[in-house]
Amino acid sequence: MTASTSTSMRSHSCGELSLDQVGQTVTLCGWVARRREHGEHLAFIDLRDHTGLVQCVVDGAAELRSEFVVRVTGVLRPRPEGTVNDQLSTGQVEVGECTVEVLSAAEPPPFPLDERAADVDETVRLRYRYLDLRREDMQKNLRTRAKINSAIRSAMDAQDFVEIETPMLIASTPEGARDFVVPARTKPGNFYALPQSPQLFKQLCMVGGVDRYYQIARCFRDEDLRADRQFEFSQLDAEMSFASQDDVLECITRAVSAAVEVVTGEGIGEVPRMTWRDAMDRFGSDKPDVRFGMELTELTSVFAKTEFNAFKASSIKGICHVGAAAETSRSRLDELTDDAKRWGAKGLVWMRVEDGEAGLSLNSPVAKFLSEDEKTGILDLLGAQAGDVIYLVADDWAKVCHVLGLLRLALGRPPVNEGGFNFLWVVDFPLFESIDPVTSKPVSAHHPFTMPHEDDWALLDGEPEDLLKVRSQAYDLVLNGWELGSGSVRIHRSDIQSRIFELLGVSAEEAALKFGFLLDAFRFGAPPHAGFAFGIDRIVALLLGEENIREVIAFPKTQSGGDPLTGAPTPIEPAQLEELGLRLLPQAT
Ligand code: ASP
Repeated sequence: MTASTSTSMRSHSCGELSLDQVGQTVTLCGWVARRREHGEHLAFIDLRDHTGLVQCVVDGAAELRSEFVVRVTGVLRPRPEGTVNDQLSTGQVEVGECTVEVLSAAEPPPFPLDERAADVDETVRLRYRYLDLRREDMQKNLRTRAKINSAIRSAMDAQDFVEIETPMLIASTPEGARDFVVPARTKPGNFYALPQSPQLFKQLCMVGGVDRYYQIARCFRDEDLRADRQFEFSQLDAEMSFASQDDVLECITRAVSAAVEVVTGEGIGEVPRMTWRDAMDRFGSDKPDVRFGMELTELTSVFAKTEFNAFKASSIKGICHVGAAAETSRSRLDELTDDAKRWGAKGLVWMRVEDGEAGLSLNSPVAKFLSEDEKTGILDLLGAQAGDVIYLVADDWAKVCHVLGLLRLALGRPPVNEGGFNFLWVVDFPLFESIDPVTSKPVSAHHPFTMPHEDDWALLDGEPEDLLKVRSQAYDLVLNGWELGSGSVRIHRSDIQSRIFELLGVSAEEAALKFGFLLDAFRFGAPPHAGFAFGIDRIVALLLGEENIREVIAFPKTQSGGDPLTGAPTPIEPAQLEELGLRLLPQAT
C-alpha cells in the first residue's frame, strides 16, 4: 500500500494501518462492517474499505449501523494487551478518540457481506452485486484480474504486438456458435452481429501489414451457459504474420507466464506439448487434466480372439482405479454404469481385483466369459493389484476414449485449487471433427480458415474417412483440464481456402456473401499468418482457484442468461420496435 490512496477526504486506507503509524492522527473513509457495543456509550466499529478492516473505538455511536458510509478521524494506538487480533492485518492497532461523520446512511444489507455470503443464493448476490463486490473475496478477484490483464498487455507490448480495437457491430463470424444480433435502424430488416471473436478482422490486420496484433477482446456467443461459460467473455486475441505454430506458442506462453506470475510470483517455463491423438488415447479428452494418472490403457489386442460378444469391438480400453475396491460399493458401480450409458457407451464392465489362491483374480459379472489369457492380459497391461477396480469399455475408438475420459474425471479429478498449474499445448487437431450425417459434408473442428497439415494435403482429395484423418495446424492451450483457448496457422492462399469451402459445402456464392471481404483481401497479398486466443475469465478463475468464472466477473449473467441486477433481457418500447422495423410474434405461454 502506498500513500497514494490518500485523497482530499482521507489520509490513509483502512487496511494499511499498522504499529508504524501509532501516534498519528488518521482520517479514514469507508463502510461500517460490524459494530460491537462496549459499555453504555462506547462501541467498536470495524471500518471497511477496499484494503481491509480496522477497528475504531467510537463514543456515542448510536446512529451508526451496518454499511453506513462514514469518515472517521482519530489517533492510531496499539490495541490493549490481550485484544490483539492475529487474523486481521491491522489486528495490532485501533483508532481511538474518534470523531465520526456520516457521509451516507444505509439500509440493512439483504445478506451479510462477509464470509457467510458464500452460502447466500447466487441470484441474490447478483441482484445486489454492488454489495457483493464490497466483500474481500470479490475485491481480491477483481483486482487480481486487473493485474493479470495488465501483465498480459505488458507481455504482448514487449513482444511488439500492437493493441487494436476491432468493431463490435459486424457481420457474422464463423466460430460455430449462435450469434447475438442487433437490428439495424438505418437498414430495416438487416442486422449486425456481435463478434463471436475478432477472427476475420485480425486476419485483415495481417493483410494490412500490422504484423503483430493483439486485443483483450470482448466476444459474444449465444450458447448454453455453464460454470465456465458466459454469453459474453473476454479473451486475449492475437495474430502474427510470417509466423509458424512454434512462434505463436512461444509468444502466447510468455503472456500466460506473465499472468501466472501475478498470482504465484513465478512464471512458467516451457509448456509441454501433446498431440491430439495422444491426448485422446491416453486421457480420453482433447483437454486432458494431467494432474493425475489413471490413464486409459489400450487392450484391444488382448481380446483379438475373444468369445465374449460384448468385447468383439474395434477398440477396447481400460482404466484402473488404484486401491478403490473397498470404497466402491455395488450401487456406486451401478451408478457409474448408468453414467457410462448416458455418455454413449453400450455398457461398462467393472472388475474388482482380489487376491486369489493362485495369484490375482478378477471379481466381475463378466469374468466367467473371459479366458485365462484375457484375464492375465488385463491385469498385466493395467498393472493392477489387489484392491483396485478396473473399468473397461468396448466400442469404436472415439466412443471408448470419450466415455473412459469422462469416467476418469468422475473418479479421479482433484479439486480446482489442487495440484498446481499444469499447462499443456494440445497440437495436431484434426481438421474436421465429423461428417454431417445429413449433408455428408465434413464439419470444421476449429474454423474454416485453419491450415491443413502439409503432410496431409493429399488426403483432402480422398474419401470421407480420409478427410477425418487430415490433421490441421490447430492447437489448444489446456490448464488442469480446462480448455483455455485455441488457435491455428491460417490459410492465406485462396486456392486452398476455396478447396476447404468446397469440401465444407460452402458454395462460392455463400463464401462470397459471408467472407467475400476476406477472400478479396487475400487477393491483394496476404502474408502467411497464425494466431491464438485464450479466455481471460477462465485463466483468472483457475489461477484464483475458483470453480466458477462468475466469481471473477464483476457483473455476470446467471446460468439462464439473465441479469438479476438490471433485469436484462427486457422488452423494448413499441416505438423502438417500430423504428427498427420489427414486429413481435405472439409468445407461447
Ligand atoms: N478465433 C478463435 C477463437 O475465438 C481463436 C483463433 O483461432 O485465433 O476461438
